[in-house]
Amino acid sequence: MSIHLILQEVFGYGEFRGPQQAIIEHAVAGGDALVLMPTGGGKSLCYQIPAIAREQAGQGITVVISPLIALMHDQVGALHEAGVSAAFLNSTLSFEEAAQVEKRLLRGDITLLYCAPERVTTPRFLAQLDSLYERGKLSLFAIDEAHCVSQWGHDFRPEYRALTVLHERYGNVPRIALTATADTLTRADIVERLQLQDARLFLSSFDRPNISYTIVEKTQATQQLLRFISNEHRGEAGIVYCQSRKRVEEIANMLCDEGIAALPYHAGLDTKVRQANQDQFLRSEGIVMVATIAFGMGIDKPDVRFVAHLDMPKNIEGYYQETGRAGRDGEAADAWMCYGLQDVVNQRRMIDESPAGEEFKQGLRGKLDALLGLSEATDCRRVRLLHYFGEESKACGNCDNCLRPPAVWDGTDCARKLLSTIYRVQQMGGSYGAVHIMDILRGKSTEKVTQRGHETLSTFGIGSAFSEVQLRGVLRQLIAIGAVAVDAEAFNTLKLTEGSRAVLKGEVPVQLRESVSTPAERKAKRGSTASVVKAPASLDAEGQARYVALKAWRAEVAKEHNLPAYVIFHDATLVAIAERAPQSLDDLQGLSGIGAKKLEAYGDEVLRVMESV
Ligand code: ADP
Ligand code: ZN
Repeated sequence: MSIHLILQEVFGYGEFRGPQQAIIEHAVAGGDALVLMPTGGGKSLCYQIPAIAREQAGQGITVVISPLIALMHDQVGALHEAGVSAAFLNSTLSFEEAAQVEKRLLRGDITLLYCAPERVTTPRFLAQLDSLYERGKLSLFAIDEAHCVSQWGHDFRPEYRALTVLHERYGNVPRIALTATADTLTRADIVERLQLQDARLFLSSFDRPNISYTIVEKTQATQQLLRFISNEHRGEAGIVYCQSRKRVEEIANMLCDEGIAALPYHAGLDTKVRQANQDQFLRSEGIVMVATIAFGMGIDKPDVRFVAHLDMPKNIEGYYQETGRAGRDGEAADAWMCYGLQDVVNQRRMIDESPAGEEFKQGLRGKLDALLGLSEATDCRRVRLLHYFGEESKACGNCDNCLRPPAVWDGTDCARKLLSTIYRVQQMGGSYGAVHIMDILRGKSTEKVTQRGHETLSTFGIGSAFSEVQLRGVLRQLIAIGAVAVDAEAFNTLKLTEGSRAVLKGEVPVQLRESVSTPAERKAKRGSTASVVKAPASLDAEGQARYVALKAWRAEVAKEHNLPAYVIFHDATLVAIAERAPQSLDDLQGLSGIGAKKLEAYGDEVLRVMESV
């Protein structure tokens, strides 16, 4: 079968997306490839179609290496649903089950085999690969989540380093490495560590036009989050990222108390509980997962409608990776983050206190600063994000700053007053935290201010016109640009730095957003960019009824097959069916997401559901 036919017949899709075709052609022809594509870009097909095409040409099996053990069952299930012979080998299988898979493997009964990296390099498995190789039945290696090989990536897995054995032992078997991590350091590391110097690089645009980015200033984080979810995403699936396990538990409880179906996920939970929560998130509809960053790599649930960050991540790579889990189906989705002064202070402290070398720390600080810059930006967020990944673009019209341009005020004078106050208390032999400095500036005669004699400072009260929110904003910027240092070892007291001077002299302007927009003020302008999928709202009353019936039917099938509902049919496919109101199998043919196998397996049932409405 040609690769186009495989796309249509097996996966039920009409066209390739972005660079998929070029990548697939290259891999089918036996070339090595490094594929960098954003989350949701459609990486899986880039190795699944070559695997099928090469197997049909008698070239044998494709081994997919992935660290995502917990997801292999569903990935293989999705291939079965499409009529592709697939299996997985990982530690969740019993010895007998694994032996069964190995038998099929040696018989050449499998098109795609998913494996954990630690399994691939065991002598037992290598012996099996040897046997396939000698018979010319080892077709392709796909190395998924390839950034795991790099310690610059955020999911370093030492086992990935050993994967060079594939290339050394099976020199002429092509390899395709894939990742959604775009930064140049990680990319260079992947090439070097996996010896992909001769591989062709496929670099896609990292833009995710259907995701709308919003970053708000933290006032009352939990209330802000609650408003955001209640007003804009009630009943929808989403992920909320928090920094600590304790916070995860608190927020999950809070959301449940407010009638929002939420579950916690963090590394401190029992493995069984974690897996159960993940399954429920994948299998049920409208669950909010409250999680630490331990959650999410490879989560391919397509209908996650929002990703919220309650605390600031470490860097833009992490932020982009996490927000990328929203809207894989191409429909409108939100990336929402709230951040405040404390986040800046905490992240700086974590870097300062880490045992790493100074050079490495500098690297981390630079990355944090870039994220701070994004957070404080008053212009298009997407332009900044893409610029960070080396792409130039125009204002997007689908981020908070584009949709509601913030009023900007000049905080230079305020910044100088803050710095002079820090300078003056330092002169008097003390150092103090943000609250005290702001009290002096605003002329508040607190006990501490009076006791230390700070009422006599020339800056006492000269900032009374500024609100606390304004002062915090200015301080955040000053810390962000390195004009103020936070001494983590001395109760987070503020200190002047080399960089303070330029600001004091007025050489560095400090621009700030006037006030923050709350989610409640947001207009419901969504999907302003071409969205690939129509929302059910586009259906008439009868169509809606068909959609509801189809969803109920899908839920039953999914349960029977022990798979997430989207593996049976995506929402978009259900919408398309509801719209067409098919009366025969012919009517179903050609709808996006309905391949030959699914038509055969479910066509009649779908028609029955249509009749019953
Ligand atoms: P990634 O691994 O890059 O994050 P996936 O491979 O999970 O992305 O694909 C994201 C979604 O897009 C999946 O639901 C997949 O079925 C869908 N998809 C991929 N390629 C196409 C295509 N050519 N046409 C339609 N849908 C596609
Ligand atoms: Zn924008």
